[in-house]
Amino acid sequence: MAVPYGRKSRAKSRMQRAANMKYAPKAFVVCGHCQAPKMSHYACGQCGAYAGRQARPVAE
Ligand SMILES: [Zn+2]
Repeated sequence: MAVPYGRKSRAKSRMQRAANMKYAPKAFVVCGHCQAPKMSHYACGQCGAYAGRQARPVAE
């Protein structure tokens, strides 16, 4: 198996990581409570609901 010739600089590693992150799909789902788009496995940002209960106080 090929072995890297030299150590990659932190900047080069981060450049590669950033390029890969750019196209990673964000896991967005629709909130079951208020139908707002929210991140999967997170409490809703609009109504604070998670798994059918109030997980977070509503930010007014
Ligand atoms: Zn919601």
